[in-house]
Amino acid sequence: MNKSVGHVLKYPTCCFVLTVFLIQCISASNVLGQSDDKQQRSGLKTRNVILITVDGLRWQEVFGGSDLSLMEKEAGGVKDVPALKERFHRSTPEESRSVLMPFFWGTLAQQGIIFGNPEHESKAVVTNGRNFSYPGYSEILCGFADPAIDSNAKKNNSNVTVLEWIGQKPGFENSVAAFCSWDVFPFIINETRSGIPVNAGWEPLATDTTLQLQGTETEKALRALDEISSEIPRYFPEVRYDFVTFRATEEYVRVKKPRLLYVSLGETDDWAHAGRYDLYLDAAFRTDDYIRRLWQLVQSMPEYRDSTTLILTTDHGRGDNRVDWKSHGEKIENCEYIWMAVMGPDTLPQTIRATTVTQSQIAATVAACLGYNYPAAFPNAAASLPVLP
Ligand SMILES: [Zn+2]
Repeated sequence: MNKSVGHVLKYPTCCFVLTVFLIQCISASNVLGQSDDKQQRSGLKTRNVILITVDGLRWQEVFGGSDLSLMEKEAGGVKDVPALKERFHRSTPEESRSVLMPFFWGTLAQQGIIFGNPEHESKAVVTNGRNFSYPGYSEILCGFADPAIDSNAKKNNSNVTVLEWIGQKPGFENSVAAFCSWDVFPFIINETRSGIPVNAGWEPLATDTTLQLQGTETEKALRALDEISSEIPRYFPEVRYDFVTFRATEEYVRVKKPRLLYVSLGETDDWAHAGRYDLYLDAAFRTDDYIRRLWQLVQSMPEYRDSTTLILTTDHGRGDNRVDWKSHGEKIENCEYIWMAVMGPDTLPQTIRATTVTQSQIAATVAACLGYNYPAAFPNAAASLPVLP
């Protein structure tokens, strides 16, 4: 950062102002879609993208399954150690990860592409240096790390997300939506400016007019979910339970059939912060099953079957010892390492070896799967992951 500041200061002020003006003009015209569409790509089978993030789920569990050193009372707050071991621990990491995330390893790993697996010297890293949620989600959705995002405060994101950008493309009007467990997402996605419906936190569903579900069969189902949400204890004031987010997503997909859908699940992070390794593993297991159910649902619908790409990742890693696993951030070592996965009709299964990819590549990947060149419109955005032919 110091280096680039010094570089800029060498230019005369008028040149600097002119350069900034030109950059702003170019960015504004690109955001409006005047020049990026020239780079549009045809010939892909993907018509829809589902992006799912699983908050703070470590690569250690994704690739290695449950960690025996945390399956105990002191380090992991585990209530019933033998029962937890019986559910999630096996003699090899391969077996353990398959019982923890059967869909990920049984289907996604077989049919898709996985990044960040240390067995293959593959790394996936966060580049924002903060290693906590808002900077991570902004990096995922905008395609670059913004140093100005330095807290989880509910401040509207000044950057345009790939959701907002794609939402302005022909055929995507009213066809982009986000369901999120954490209540900061309406700010990360800048719901007010972007017009993307973002249902998040403990926000009621049936009365959310941005979802445009009034008068549909689904409205009843959402009302039932709202009733349950209002009656259960709220252990995390800012994060609703993932089953509510997931079930609302299912209902929405059935009726509204969005072409770009973002689902953000959060319990993995919250149970880890609470020091409950048993509930963290349970959340990872349930999340894997939600992903399976959503995938099977869309494959049963003609609008989505064989034309939908699924992209999975997380906002940050966590620490790597008996204490630090609960936490993450600038002061916790090694929590910039994450994982990613992509599966869809245009992604041939392949094993990624000796490659480093970044969290900032997700935005361009979402766009690329839909045939759009995101970095052409946002020059500071990272390139797409190497997932398309
Ligand atoms: Zn966290």
